[in-house]
Amino acid sequence: MKNAHWHGFTQMAGLEPLVIESAQGCWLQTVDGRRLFDGVSSLWCNVHGHRNPHIDAAVEQQLKKVSHITTLGMSCETTERLATKLAEITPGDLGHVFFSSDGSSAVEAALKMAFQYWQQCETAEVGSTSLNSTSLSSTSLSTGKTKYLALSGAYHGDTTGAVSLGGIKYFHKLFAPILFTPIRGPIPCTYRYPDGVTPETACEHYAREIENLLEQHHHELAAVVIEPLVQGAAGIITHPEGLLLRLRQLCDQYNVLLICDEVAVGFGRTGKLFACEQENVTPDILCLGKGLTGGYLPMAATIARPHIYEAFLAEIKESKQFFHGHTFAGNPLAAAAALASIELLETTTILEDVTTKSAFLIEQLKPLLDHPHVGNIRGRGLMIGIELVTDKSTRAAFDPGLLMGKRVCDEAMKGGVWLRPLSDVVVVMPPLVSTDDELDFLANVVINSIEKVCE
Ligand code: PMP
Repeated sequence: MKNAHWHGFTQMAGLEPLVIESAQGCWLQTVDGRRLFDGVSSLWCNVHGHRNPHIDAAVEQQLKKVSHITTLGMSCETTERLATKLAEITPGDLGHVFFSSDGSSAVEAALKMAFQYWQQCETAEVGSTSLNSTSLSSTSLSTGKTKYLALSGAYHGDTTGAVSLGGIKYFHKLFAPILFTPIRGPIPCTYRYPDGVTPETACEHYAREIENLLEQHHHELAAVVIEPLVQGAAGIITHPEGLLLRLRQLCDQYNVLLICDEVAVGFGRTGKLFACEQENVTPDILCLGKGLTGGYLPMAATIARPHIYEAFLAEIKESKQFFHGHTFAGNPLAAAAALASIELLETTTILEDVTTKSAFLIEQLKPLLDHPHVGNIRGRGLMIGIELVTDKSTRAAFDPGLLMGKRVCDEAMKGGVWLRPLSDVVVVMPPLVSTDDELDFLANVVINSIEKVCE
């Protein structure tokens, strides 16, 4: 039956899905015989490309043992090893791993965890239990902590809670009647500054805006939720350096939890295993997905620091448990893929090479800086966005109806590269293992496509 598969963002946009038969390394093979470079790592997941022999072998080995068990009252040795490994490699004392199946679910778990944490804290305080937390300050303990602060342009997933946090109108507007309303912070963009703000003052400016909101709302805020360093879906919006660290300090000062959503930026994208490490920040809760299994199997994780986890151990009322869980959480096959992927990141030079490869790719793309319709090339590591504008001097956007970003990506496909646009930002997110030759090819196709479409 035609259209039996209802694709997200495809048929309704008048597009035909590209059907893939197989993939190898950084290359996709379509059923109609085309070979395409996977320029977005299959939506920012396939860190090691496709069919990596080490990950293939780990999944095959796991298949011979057990492929699914429930994590309700049970676990699998491989999943236990992965939890221990994640506790070991994530920043600071993040150490308690709650598994789910996708990035949106990891964010949902974080939201509910943060809310219930404050409930537990208050009840524990009232019941004078032995709850021992560095973040507990009796001044702001209140079950009134039911809100979240999220940034403009944020994207945290498509489930109802995650989309409530989101600040992108296409995802948000239609569903507004069924969403909750977060406290909305600025979009800390480094391309279009508010009046009077300069690159030198941007960090302090955005931090002050967020501080004003914290000052006003901290008593009702359970958590600040951010995509650290780069807001992906908003169009690779890079934050001023130092902002994440300022946010950590502000959250401590105002006794609000910090949730970092590293679903997109985690696992090496920015050149460190986790983006938070770039500013030596340990969030209270960290969300991971996408690259966790090297793009092999659906798995995500919400990782909490001890004070969060321990609050749930407190003997109080019936709310002690975290009433949240997914059928496929901690799946053994996904855990095996994740362990193998992490092993590759730990034992090879893939991570340290990201910075060199990023510099190489940006150098190859540099001719575009002279193009009258390329406003900006930005990013961190191998997470790069090229923004198309109608007027370089004013940074004015094209009429959205012209679909410039989409047209560039369509052109790139003719040249052998699979890309996805985010409005008029052409997103370039190759697998971290791309060779210089592949990056050179990718850059040439991107340049030619932009030149052809934006004459
Ligand atoms: N958070 C961020 C920052 C993301 O980029 C995404 C996906 N693009 C999600 C959450 C949602 O992840 P998923 O699509 O796996 O639910």
